[in-house]
Amino acid sequence: MSQVQASVKATEVKTTCPYCGVGCGLIATIKNNKDKAGGYDVSVKGDETHPANKGVLCSKGMALAETLDHKDRLLHPVVDGAQVSWDDALDTVANGLKDTIEKHGADSVAFYVSGQFLTEDYYVANKLMKGFIGSGNIDTNSRLCMSSSVAGHKRAFGADIVPGNYDDWEQCDLAVLVGSNAAWCHPILFNRLLKAQKERGAKIVIIDPRHTASCEMADMHLPLLPGSDVALFNGLLVYLAKFKAINAKYVKTRTNGMSKALESAHADVPDLDTVAQKTGLTVAQIEEFYRLFLKNERALTIYSQGVNQSSSGTDKVNAIINCHLFTGRISKPGMGPFSVTGQPNAMGGREVGGLANMLAAHMDFTPETIDLVSRFWGSDNVATKPGAKAVDMFDKIDRGEIKAVWIMATNPAVSMPNANKVRRALDKCPLVIVSDCMDNTDSMKYANVKLPAMAWGEKNGTVTNSERRISRQRSFLKPAGEAKADWWIMTQVAKKMGFGSHFNYSKPVDIYREHAQLSTFENRYGNGKDADFITRRAFTIGLHAQIIEHEYDGMPPLQWPLTDCTPYGMARMPNRGEFFNQNRKANFVAIRHRAPENKLERKYPLVLNSGRIRDQWHTMSRTGKSAKLSNQHAEPFANISRQDAAEFNIQDGGFVEINSKWGQALVRAHVEDKQVSGQIFMPMHWTDVYTSKGVIGALVNPATDAVSGQPELKHTPVKITTWTPKWHGYFISDEKIDSAMLETDENIEYWAYNYQDGSHILNLAGDGACEDVKLVAQLKGRSGDKLLSYVDDMAGQYRYASIVDNRLESCFMIAKKGGLPQREWLTQLISKRIDVSDKTNFILSGVGQDNMPNLGPIVCACMGVYQQQIIDAISEHDLKTVEQVGALLKAGTNCGSCMSEIKQLL
Ligand code: SF4
Repeated sequence: MSQVQASVKATEVKTTCPYCGVGCGLIATIKNNKDKAGGYDVSVKGDETHPANKGVLCSKGMALAETLDHKDRLLHPVVDGAQVSWDDALDTVANGLKDTIEKHGADSVAFYVSGQFLTEDYYVANKLMKGFIGSGNIDTNSRLCMSSSVAGHKRAFGADIVPGNYDDWEQCDLAVLVGSNAAWCHPILFNRLLKAQKERGAKIVIIDPRHTASCEMADMHLPLLPGSDVALFNGLLVYLAKFKAINAKYVKTRTNGMSKALESAHADVPDLDTVAQKTGLTVAQIEEFYRLFLKNERALTIYSQGVNQSSSGTDKVNAIINCHLFTGRISKPGMGPFSVTGQPNAMGGREVGGLANMLAAHMDFTPETIDLVSRFWGSDNVATKPGAKAVDMFDKIDRGEIKAVWIMATNPAVSMPNANKVRRALDKCPLVIVSDCMDNTDSMKYANVKLPAMAWGEKNGTVTNSERRISRQRSFLKPAGEAKADWWIMTQVAKKMGFGSHFNYSKPVDIYREHAQLSTFENRYGNGKDADFITRRAFTIGLHAQIIEHEYDGMPPLQWPLTDCTPYGMARMPNRGEFFNQNRKANFVAIRHRAPENKLERKYPLVLNSGRIRDQWHTMSRTGKSAKLSNQHAEPFANISRQDAAEFNIQDGGFVEINSKWGQALVRAHVEDKQVSGQIFMPMHWTDVYTSKGVIGALVNPATDAVSGQPELKHTPVKITTWTPKWHGYFISDEKIDSAMLETDENIEYWAYNYQDGSHILNLAGDGACEDVKLVAQLKGRSGDKLLSYVDDMAGQYRYASIVDNRLESCFMIAKKGGLPQREWLTQLISKRIDVSDKTNFILSGVGQDNMPNLGPIVCACMGVYQQQIIDAISEHDLKTVEQVGALLKAGTNCGSCMSEIKQLL
């Protein structure tokens, strides 16, 4: 076994970023391990030796050190609202699960887990549920992220394999990004495409209904109709056949079913006009893309949530793979289909069987695999059928069929479609156990039992990124309070449920070793010296079947499969072109275009699309702590086209109510030139912790892909209406305001919380009496030394500020008419604890003699460069290119995820 010990200084720990599926390596430097006010004394930088990122981190990775404090952490086990010992909490969980199973059977309990889990956590969760409780009811939030890719891979390849690796991103001549805003969501990889574009003239094509940041840097954008990807790629297959781009030898020797797939594509879209009609693109646009694909052998088709989160997600994946099989452009440098995952360990979950329809170690539920796994685990109670997938799982909870659910490291009350129904289901579920590092998630509100889990920096184990690379995530902080590793918590519950001898793990390496042993158990294919080289099942890390602790601790990042014959892993799969279907060939899949499940109707005429913004991650429990990351967008919003804004009478910056059949949201309107008419976009990040009515999951339709069970998060019919409050304003304070107080104030209809360097900012609006807002009374109550106030009923202006010990500690500016005072100077006064004894005359105007300029939102979070600084530099120095802006201000010179915005400013 090749083991390159991670050689770092005593104070440095090599680990991996906990955010996206790129899986960047980083080095955490710990100056001390004390919980200082405001966080740990830790700095983070990219790991130059990690192949995924070669030393570079994006804005989110760079800001990790700002997110390590214990604020809002769950520090102790809690049962029914009372702090208890770990032993009592574990007894409650074990007895609760046992009682439920005894009374109602194994399928009356469920685990809902997470792509934030380490592989070792995932392995124990899966083994406990499927191996010993005897139910398939464990699913993961990765169901929402990439299960259509898993299903598409399995249909085509006979196994869930990603054939390529990240080097392909630099080696391709044509990169086609389908439903992927990689510039923001996978910026380190997108940078590698830009390198290929700049240095070798590679072309970048974006296929996306939405004009995203990635489009700014691309050579072509095809804004197809939502959900029409199958028609576009079926059309490509027909076009490739017409121009004889078939790799006949490859198709004959390595694939099954080409004729049927081509026939089906032909019946679906016989000509370019039909493709145009189904996709909403012009024939010229389609032809230009098809020509590019035809002439570039090194074509890489990268796809992500825009493909997966669809009621035809699996078909979209196979439509893409069909084109690569047809041309034989797969498993070779710079070419192939490439699924990029959203979460840091979505792939690890796939490897252990974290999806309800997988048994373990990439195995499905068949009599042979059930027998194999039963013998390996030494259990006669292994689940014999798949369990409930995410949407079904919460439906079953709602119907009372599942009576105990254990939610781990995820927040379904926000992220699931039809989130209000999920909340209702949790509310009536007799036993809800939630393990999380945070105490204030929306899902935690429903927990009978709260279990404090370790957070990033405290956890120790492995993760797998989008290119099959397994990396170590190493701990470098002491656990907060009584927090424990997820695998430890489940192991203790397993012991208390009577499965003790099967869960005798004392360290993560014990679990990883067993996971490796299962992956290689009865996995030889054929005889002779190649038997380990070409395996029966794709997933194997048999090389590590006897791994010991110091090898595990020093394990370098490696791409599976890992066997004695492939000790350094394998860059491209499948080995020797042998896939994992019965005859070792890949399958074409015959498919036809289908429109999204929920059609637009008169009452709901617009398509709601959901997704990420550049600087936030999931439900903001971590990134929301970083002032830099929170600066890009302070409030939840909806992007609306100019045309729709005019039609529905929406003002840029005003409020809009968005309604679907499933729920409602209240957010700011961002009227955008490049937003496509008929569609609106809302980010997925806001929760009840951050705003009054911004949970997009409440709106999203619960339709799913019939094959993968993945919800259609990119296509919900909605309507928008403008909302004009009686007053609006902002409250800035040196203390965080309890959101419960805001929720119970009938004068406040809308609030959104944002954190900026020691200042807690609330944007507020309401229909009630602004003078009666409870915050006014609270501010007055806190003003020990001095209360400043200005009330002008005629002008509709109400302004208050409280001064304590010559420091501005909070201010509340309200307008019934007209605008509000500038807030930048006031924010700085509070953040920097500036002595205001000579400034009190200016405070209520928001403009001081030492006024800070309004720099606007941050553009480059990595380098701390704001919009106005870039605008000023462009006009002052007559800058023309992104590179010139970078040379002068450093903006865009790190991860590059802001280059598209700089380009727009130019
Ligand atoms: Fe983390 Fe950014 Fe790398 Fe993703 S691209 S793993 S968020 S540093």
